[in-house]
Amino acid sequence: MYKHNFLNLYFTKLVLFCFLFGTSVNAAEMGLELSLFHVKGQVYVLTGADANVTVQIGDEAIVFVDTPAPEYVEEMMSLIREISNAPVRYAITTALDPLHLAGNETIENLGFRGFGGRGVGVDVAIGGNTTGVTLLAHENVLNRFYLAENDVESLTLTTTYFTTDFDIYLNDEGIAIYHMPNAHTDGDSIVFFRSSDVISLGDLLVQGQFPDIDVEAGGSVNGFIDALNYTLELVIPGPNAEGGTYVVPGHGRIGDEIDVVEYRNMLVIIRDRIQYQIEQGMSFDQIIASEPALDYDTEYGGARGGPSTTEFITSVFQSLQEEVE
Ligand SMILES: [Zn+2]
Repeated sequence: MYKHNFLNLYFTKLVLFCFLFGTSVNAAEMGLELSLFHVKGQVYVLTGADANVTVQIGDEAIVFVDTPAPEYVEEMMSLIREISNAPVRYAITTALDPLHLAGNETIENLGFRGFGGRGVGVDVAIGGNTTGVTLLAHENVLNRFYLAENDVESLTLTTTYFTTDFDIYLNDEGIAIYHMPNAHTDGDSIVFFRSSDVISLGDLLVQGQFPDIDVEAGGSVNGFIDALNYTLELVIPGPNAEGGTYVVPGHGRIGDEIDVVEYRNMLVIIRDRIQYQIEQGMSFDQIIASEPALDYDTEYGGARGGPSTTEFITSVFQSLQEEVE
């Protein structure tokens, strides 16, 4: 009963969100094929959907970080089933973003459709859900999405939310989930697969795009930089700074330490310029006209999707203004 209402509400809002903010051309329409790319250890990434989906595949369980749109789930599962028949146990959501959580309901229902198995009883007892698949996100994901509807109680019956950090031990591996406050939004999580040595970053790293700092949803440029610095504490590079810990971005190719460093440095440099301009008393229009991100335009400036240069500068400006006020 509760669950039914929650899902209806969820998808009504999701559809509305997509309609308002646009998902103009999806990956299938662009002719991309789904494939499962082995990153390292037990961690894979599904490519060819609208956002990267990180998957831990072991003998005991399947764990997702973000989920693809429902139309991709069946094909994704057939790729996964070539490697393991273990039950799906978790889908961790990195942030409130339709491209990253659209498949949550479909994934949750996999427990009912015969993919579940031995995990089911445990989850009913521990998580309170009935499918064997736990949907996991920071509570600010819930707050941002549902608080206006005052429907919080119904959600706790079906999913699990955490307040600071969370950890899971599955497939003989520790999975550490860290909340990154006030970065892309105020509900971002990064997921560290400790023995596989892979970190799934969601949209805290997007190859070839400026960061999407959603100030309205609690994001900020300084929080974004903090999140990347925190990630750099976890990442250990291999010889000659190549390889070592791998990072899975929300979109684009797999990276390692240097990709996170470059992204962090770009953000620090542009933040410092705009901070200085604000301190000099320049207006927003003057700052835009001065093109403070000009040298990064060709690499990140919206040609491959993501925020335009102006949208990005606006978000940096707004979050710095909010800190002054
Ligand atoms: Zn994204």
